[in-house]
Amino acid sequence: MATSKKQRKSGKSFKIIFPASIYDQITGQFKAMEAQKLEGYALAMCGLKTDLSDNSHTYLVKKVFIPEKGNLIEHSSVSVTPSGEYLEKVLAEAGESNSAIIEIHTHVDAPAPSFSSVDLENGIDNGRFLKSCRIRFGMIVMGSEGLSALEYDGDSDSLRVPEKASIAVMTRHGLKTVLPVQKPGATEPLAEVYDRQVRLWGSQSQRRIEATTAGIVGLGGTGSVVLQILSRIGVKKFVLVDPDDIEESNLSRLPYAISTDVGKKKVKVAAAHLKKVNKNAEITSLAGPVADFKDKLKACTVIFGCVDNDLARLTLNEISLRYFIPLIDTGTEIFVTEGSLDEMGGQVRVVIPSVTGCLECGGLIDKEQAAMSMLSQEERNILAAAGYVRGTDLTPAPAVMTLNAIIASLAVQEFVDMMTERGRPDYSYLIYSGRSPIIDRLSLERCDTCPNCGSRGILGAGEEKKQSRACLKMISEEPGTP
Ligand SMILES: [Zn+2]
Ligand SMILES: [Zn+2]
Repeated sequence: MATSKKQRKSGKSFKIIFPASIYDQITGQFKAMEAQKLEGYALAMCGLKTDLSDNSHTYLVKKVFIPEKGNLIEHSSVSVTPSGEYLEKVLAEAGESNSAIIEIHTHVDAPAPSFSSVDLENGIDNGRFLKSCRIRFGMIVMGSEGLSALEYDGDSDSLRVPEKASIAVMTRHGLKTVLPVQKPGATEPLAEVYDRQVRLWGSQSQRRIEATTAGIVGLGGTGSVVLQILSRIGVKKFVLVDPDDIEESNLSRLPYAISTDVGKKKVKVAAAHLKKVNKNAEITSLAGPVADFKDKLKACTVIFGCVDNDLARLTLNEISLRYFIPLIDTGTEIFVTEGSLDEMGGQVRVVIPSVTGCLECGGLIDKEQAAMSMLSQEERNILAAAGYVRGTDLTPAPAVMTLNAIIASLAVQEFVDMMTERGRPDYSYLIYSGRSPIIDRLSLERCDTCPNCGSRGILGAGEEKKQSRACLKMISEEPGTP
């Protein structure tokens, strides 16, 4: 494809992520069109995720519109044009939900297509028009083996050609790149250190594990063991979040810390330890509450929630859904009455955005507890004096490394099952009861009315934007565009 004045090489990458069910829907439709020697066409309404390192964009597909025959002005083997009314309806919905629009089409008999000159002219026109509606616009032309992509850049009034473009799908086994189709080629040999586990799950799974960017939120008893195991099995990129310093009483449960670390930030000590395990580890250490680092965590490909309060869990649930990042949430509890153990146990909950339900519709968030953790000590004292009990007692809860290590191991095993695609049955919620001991399995079904993961929720919403309704009037004034 020639680069004209209206096209600029951007040096950035372009990625679009579909929920698996939506991707199946459009590829099924495109195959049916191809069989009739017609171009396929769809409009994707997307949230946006910006890579902070180079400003590259990832588009998160919330919904796809596939026009029916009656919504098209013309349709042939070389072109397809939806009606103005149809576009008006789509743009109104995109404007209302602050979404970007990615126009998707196919070329007949073209497994790895490039844009035609007509595509480029239309692209500029559509980009300008949508800019006037304050809707971000991009386009892809895709085939069975590859794709081309462009983004309209309103500042320079040109189409940006990304350095590389890809399509990924959110599946039960995590995010998988589907286009361009990867051709088997020369690959770096795997490090000797992973030899024994590669004998278990193969080199492809090992490469997936090594390509992971793992967020670990909470570096206490559970998070510290999650960190240990992940670094040993080959994860190299970490985003670590914890506001706390290491205390004397933590040393019984933190395998990364020794007595001279007391008083230091957990994230700093953990990062130094990771570097000793793997000198090539890339670590982002964030000492503060998770709500301050939503922007940093969106770079993760999986997040482990190892927190002890439901306010942080709510934040993690939101990040997971907004950016299509699988969340593996953990929790432990020990009940002791007058020094004797009543029960100890824990849970591992896997949220795979667009595939499973979320922590909130699964009834796994205690809103009262979440609200309580927003209060200061003084406010808690007032509540305690007024007779409230739950959440006001700040006496340290019992904790023990054996329980933390069991739950951490179960959590990382969930991740391994996802990466290796081996023997993962259809469940997403493990409950461990330590006295018996038994592990129960439940599924976390998606619920369409959930305010988070439901179709009107924040699933795939990407970064938050200010509401803008400016476009709706303009669309109705310009019928038939583009
Ligand atoms: Zn075309
Ligand atoms: Zn939900």
